[in-house]
Amino acid sequence: MRILLIEDDEMIAKAVRRGLAQAGFTVDWARDGRDAELALANGVYDLAVLDLGLPKKDGMALLATLRARGDSMPVLIASARDTVGDRIAGLEAGADDYVLKPFDLDELIARVRALLRRHAGSGIPLLKCGALTLDPARKTVTKDAQAVELSAMEFAVLEALMQRPGAVLSREKLEESVYGWGQEVSSNAIEVHLHNLRKKLGSHLIKNVRGVGYRVAEG
Ligand code: CA
Repeated sequence: MRILLIEDDEMIAKAVRRGLAQAGFTVDWARDGRDAELALANGVYDLAVLDLGLPKKDGMALLATLRARGDSMPVLIASARDTVGDRIAGLEAGADDYVLKPFDLDELIARVRALLRRHAGSGIPLLKCGALTLDPARKTVTKDAQAVELSAMEFAVLEALMQRPGAVLSREKLEESVYGWGQEVSSNAIEVHLHNLRKKLGSHLIKNVRGVGYRVAEG
């Protein structure tokens, strides 16, 4: 699942990005309100972590714009604005949750997961493909109803494939959907994850279409 982290404090942003990535999320980082607005216009995010005090466009204004156009993506405000009035204003403007800075990273991640779960009940469906079932919100995979342990990156690759069952995705396409902006990607990283996935799930389920890419088997 892809999260947009909207935060102008570099130290906080890097720590949050690392924590969320370790928890298995793909994270893009927007450093100011304008960048965030452009990124959000793509509609590719499952959740946003939103700071309020931002250069170029304030977090509250950003949230208002998002909700005004009917986007129901979960938004978790992470702010140092700590009065009850601030929190109420944030929630009334359409935020789904509010954490105060400084926050505990584990708590932030738990809240992100809770929001995604809640949102999942209202719409994010399980992905099913043949023997495989993937739960994007809970980050679990089963094969023939047996749980399969995957690393965060393996999960992300499989999720990208299962979102487009039957379609052949090139390595570049997979990299695009799995890695956030500006992340260093070694040239064979995706192949390594695919290799591990095929080992864990069976090579008949992840097909390699020679010279083109990979697809997940539907049968
Ligand atoms: Ca700030």
